[in-house]
Amino acid sequence: MRPRVLGAALAALPLLLVPGAGAASAAPGAAGDGLTRAAASLARETLPAGDGWAAEGTGTTGGATATDDQVHLVRSRADLVRALGGDNATNRGNATPKVIVVDGTVDGFEAADGSLRACTDLADPEYSLPAYLAGYDPAVWGMVPPTGPLEAARVRSVANQTKQTQINVGPNTTIVGLRGATLTGLTLMLDGASNVIVRNLTFDDARDCFPAWSPTDGATGNWNSQYDQLSVRRSEHVWVDHNTFTDGDNPDSGQPVYFGRPYQVHDGSLDVTHTASLVTASYNRFVGRDKLMLIGSSNTVGPDVDRLKVTLHHNLFDRVLQRLPRVRFGQVDVYNNWYRLAGDDFEYAIGVGVQSAAYVENNYFTLGAGITADDLLYDWGGTALTARGNWVRADGDRPRPVDLVAAYNTTHDPDLGADAGWTPTWRAHRALPAPLVPIVVGALAGANRLPL
Ligand code: CA
Ligand code: CA
Repeated sequence: MRPRVLGAALAALPLLLVPGAGAASAAPGAAGDGLTRAAASLARETLPAGDGWAAEGTGTTGGATATDDQVHLVRSRADLVRALGGDNATNRGNATPKVIVVDGTVDGFEAADGSLRACTDLADPEYSLPAYLAGYDPAVWGMVPPTGPLEAARVRSVANQTKQTQINVGPNTTIVGLRGATLTGLTLMLDGASNVIVRNLTFDDARDCFPAWSPTDGATGNWNSQYDQLSVRRSEHVWVDHNTFTDGDNPDSGQPVYFGRPYQVHDGSLDVTHTASLVTASYNRFVGRDKLMLIGSSNTVGPDVDRLKVTLHHNLFDRVLQRLPRVRFGQVDVYNNWYRLAGDDFEYAIGVGVQSAAYVENNYFTLGAGITADDLLYDWGGTALTARGNWVRADGDRPRPVDLVAAYNTTHDPDLGADAGWTPTWRAHRALPAPLVPIVVGALAGANRLPL
């Protein structure tokens, strides 16, 4: 199941320190000694042939052809920005092949001197949450979108945070973690960044210091956050493999309630939007949050048509509530994933959006109390979904095969069609029978499971 590696000569290339990485000499296992052979191999691995949509055409090689001086070990936000090209404002245009190996925890809130900035450090002088809550309380302001100086100050605060915590990645990049590597409080932004590989990282708590009140979102309004853990926009050939996405000790369930709605400081874990396409997400572990994966962010029939092609295989969706994924337009292959779903707040697994074409095969759904097979799909304006070979284990019941579309149609109208109109061809292996999926995915999905 291990992807092929490049030749031993490439794998043995020395790992160079990022210039100015001041903490290197003090850290255990200092990089001057080079990576272990296993880590050096991992850093140069490419997407296996045929492995999902990202394998189409030129395939996905990330930074595998990087020269020696473009292999970087990073231990801080400053290291990471330096390795990506040196300037976070322009790094998205740096197409030089590069391999970035993350060691330890990189915190998006780190200042240049290594200290951690607080939300209050990023806030515009004219913004404060108490003032925002007082000014835009629906009882005072009404149910119309916030405007005026205080909202303008919030928007300026968001711009400050974006410069700090959104890390921009350019094309032809591989980012891999050593054992325990964590990106916390940080958004990896792939915008116009094609041919990128992201592996063996724990993404922790990419939080928004300045959520927006959106009174017209839903029947009673909602708080919305700006920051995904990993955003893929206007990019293709992206492989996201063996990562863990978590909110750690800052879960959605622990947020306060303002204006009767949860104060949402998180957005997506892995959102693929704005005409991105040819993405393979494999062996990731998504843990305990509300909104997981948005594929397509607009119902407008325009540039997203024939884009947003994503393969999801061998991922674990663990106690997450919705968008697993939510699909618009794309041909999305969802096979051999394990859904372990629970909680009163669960909403749905797969969102069937405008012109979406999801092919859902041999997945395994473990359902907690109160969740039934007809809850697993949600009609966001789509018409059809192909479902084959999926199994459901409802609470207190034995596992059994379930036709997800038929189950949905029994309790919902209008019915969904059972043919999404295409058959996936980009698969490296035949799909496993669904009953094996919890064993394989439970053992192999997530960070810190690759041989290192
Ligand atoms: Ca998002
Ligand atoms: Ca029906």
